Amino acid sequence: KLVVLGSINVDHILNVQQFPQPGETVRGDSYQVAFGGKGANQAVAAGRSGADITFIACVGDDDVGVSIKKQLQKDTIKIDCIDSVAGETTGVALIYVNGQGENIIGINAGANGHLSTERLAAYQQKIIDADALLMQLESPIETVQMAAEIARKHQTQVILNPAPAQALPDSLLSLVDVITPNETEAEHLTGIAVNDEEGAQKAAQALHQKGINKVMITLGARGVWYSESGKQGKIIPGFKVKAVDTIAAGDTFNGAYVTALLEGQSDEDAIVFAHAAAAIAVTRPGAQPSVPWRNEIDQFLLQ
Ligand code: ADP
Repeated sequence: KLVVLGSINVDHILNVQQFPQPGETVRGDSYQVAFGGKGANQAVAAGRSGADITFIACVGDDDVGVSIKKQLQKDTIKIDCIDSVAGETTGVALIYVNGQGENIIGINAGANGHLSTERLAAYQQKIIDADALLMQLESPIETVQMAAEIARKHQTQVILNPAPAQALPDSLLSLVDVITPNETEAEHLTGIAVNDEEGAQKAAQALHQKGINKVMITLGARGVWYSESGKQGKIIPGFKVKAVDTIAAGDTFNGAYVTALLEGQSDEDAIVFAHAAAAIAVTRPGAQPSVPWRNEIDQFLLQ
């Protein structure tokens, strides 16, 4: 059993040739509304790849909050721990993508900011009963800390995707069993730049010293640095595909990795499974629409 705790957003994506300058209005080439938020993306990736999953999160008391809960159910996720917050809007991300594929993003946390320790207390039994807890950093940090404390006390494995990038207190890091930063996030956590294998090894070592057993630094198309405390680490390469956009690549990796881990796969096999899921996701546009189902991942791995 898996519990994901995290954010839910609606992404409004406007494709433009060039970003507007202050005071300027530009015409869009296309517009898409898609469901996103790191927590929801990872929950969907876990659900579609086959995990038994409960999602602890908040939406607003708006129409889109209702639609999102319905969609999450279709993705096989249990939604009884998703609160609708009275008088609040669902989290929103406003995203411009320019002709070069670069993006500019503004986020309103909305209901995500209401995932308080009081709300978590009502659902703590789910974490106690689970085998693993997967979290990110788009929720109030005191709630993430409390969830990790509950998990540690009851032998539930804690997997933390420390995104978006920020420094974290040792009190939280010491409760983490598996950490999955990308290069930027690893640098924020350790102060060590991750530009090559040597940098990855040093940053991972610093994270092991904080008490984290397994470190996986995702390296985009190059794959992932993997090391276990006290053992020699290495890079496990990803799959070569034609990427159209890497939105939710990391989220898909995390959700699929935890699914495979809970099935009893070795870390290396679970990472290869997650690479396959993420590789499929980068060949498709958007966040949740790009996340593959289990049969697609299995097929990809057979090729
Ligand atoms: P984030 O999106 O969090 O920055 P990364 O860019 O490091 O994360 O990518 C996470 C994972 O997604 C990688 O470890 C890999 O499995 C997969 N991935 C990302 N970009 C590509 C790509 N261009 N081709 C194939 N796989 C990719």
